[in-house]
Amino acid sequence: MTPLEEVFPVIMRMLVTAGPTREHIDPVRFISNRSTGKMGFAIAQYAAARGHAVTLIAGPVALATPPGVQRVDVVSACDMLAAVEKYLSTCDALVMCAAVADWRPRQVSAGKLKKRNMSPVLELEANPDILKTIRDRKNGRIFVGFAAETGDPRPEGRRKLAEKGLDLLVANDVAQPDAGFAVDTNRVTLLTADGEENALPLLSKLEVAEQIVAWMERTTRRAVPT
Ligand code: C5P
Repeated sequence: MTPLEEVFPVIMRMLVTAGPTREHIDPVRFISNRSTGKMGFAIAQYAAARGHAVTLIAGPVALATPPGVQRVDVVSACDMLAAVEKYLSTCDALVMCAAVADWRPRQVSAGKLKKRNMSPVLELEANPDILKTIRDRKNGRIFVGFAAETGDPRPEGRRKLAEKGLDLLVANDVAQPDAGFAVDTNRVTLLTADGEENALPLLSKLEVAEQIVAWMERTTRRAVPT
């Protein structure tokens, strides 16, 4: 960082999503995924410590709110979409780190289903894609997305970067034991809309957060007229 950047830091209003979503079948059963929220919480923690104003929309996770972060708890993908839509207009940048469930049960029972009455086949319907739903409301904001893949995450990462209108996509191979879900380390490749590709070594999630936030600060600084 140059001395000028230290004196005039870029301050962003950041909206970060984290964790899984839970798609209920009845009050005690649900569909979800292995996300623990650690990566998104690390981004919120690091960004807030850098002085950014952070709103964190969290799915059901067992993590403490980082200092200085405004937290909004949600359960399902539809709840998360509603919360993102609510806070989008007051943010400069969105980091969609959440592992949003792709499907939800077509019917949700208000009472606990009796095993003897349950069908062994669960009918599902697609959840809305949050990024695709809001991409027309981007209006100069920075959009960052994640792609968790098994195997080389770059081809799918490039496809999602374009399809979801992102500026930066953080791609990781979740088949590796030291990267992805439920661990404190991650090995990611940063793919940008400008065609840049930066494969980072194995880092702590806080160090990955530092790289992502630094990229967002550089991008914001370039967009500010001097
Ligand atoms: O699940 P997928 O690999 O498509 O996720 C890629 C990106 O899209 C992630 O940033 C994720 O948060 C976002 N996403 C979304 N709405 C969904 C599914 C994923 O915004 N329904």
